[in-house]
Amino acid sequence: MSAEERRAARKPIPQPVPAYLPTSDSSPLVVDRQAYSAIQQVDRTLADEFTLPIRSGRAWTATAGSIVRISTPNGPQVGDLNIWNLHNPRERFWASRTRQLHASHVSTHDRLWSCLPYMRPLLTIVADSLAWYGEDEHGGRVHDLLGTRCDPYIRSVLSGGAQYDFHCHSNLTRAVLPFGLAETDVHDVINLFQATGLDEQGRYCMSPCPAEEGDYIEFLAEQDVLMALSTCPGGDLSLWGFGESSDEEMAKVCRPLKVEVFRLADEKLLERCGWRPAKPAVYKGLHGMVAVEGEGKGAGVN
Ligand SMILES: [Zn+2]
Repeated sequence: MSAEERRAARKPIPQPVPAYLPTSDSSPLVVDRQAYSAIQQVDRTLADEFTLPIRSGRAWTATAGSIVRISTPNGPQVGDLNIWNLHNPRERFWASRTRQLHASHVSTHDRLWSCLPYMRPLLTIVADSLAWYGEDEHGGRVHDLLGTRCDPYIRSVLSGGAQYDFHCHSNLTRAVLPFGLAETDVHDVINLFQATGLDEQGRYCMSPCPAEEGDYIEFLAEQDVLMALSTCPGGDLSLWGFGESSDEEMAKVCRPLKVEVFRLADEKLLERCGWRPAKPAVYKGLHGMVAVEGEGKGAGVN
């Protein structure tokens, strides 16, 4: 049969349902919305704050139960975010699993999950001033998990060997060096404030950032975390393209991002809400392997 015949003969496929749709309110994929709203709305005290200049990167820490707020103080700007367990950088954000568990773009009450063999929430989104955006006329949505960070390697591949040192990958690399991490610790990001989608052929598309002055997203730290943020050199992505616009032109659409870390004024509220720091998945199956026995065991040696 030809490809066309096979396509014509394809049997009807039932409407699929989301593969990881929670089956009950007690699912770890579902947060206690009432509790998380109470936590988000209660008084807080500022523990750390900085403004990240254009085309730069910085890392910071947040203890479990903190609230981290990232905002656009001067208007539209995309931010590329990485997250690690503060005490173990092998545990880091897993963008593709998070995309499967929640959606290609995330918002309030979605969680950002860690990689194997940990598989637990690093952060939960507790507020998102762009939640109204929904789906635009091109199928675009905001806070992107489809794409990854811009990087100087693909830039050189696609632009005839061009050298540029301030892509998000490089900004994140410089950001984590003071914390003892390296380039290989930088991983797939969540693209904050970034509107993206797939076209009719499944190709990745970006639209200009819809954030305005003062837009924000807030996270509750589900464990002690190290976070790193890059102010993308593409700025609000209104001019983005490899070789189509000069870096100088794009610098005009770059703006800073603000980071604030808060502790709850009444930290006992977390406990009263039943909140606990996230625990790793309990799988201990060793993937079916049996550990090799040591000297003498079963070898007939007394
Ligand atoms: Zn970037």
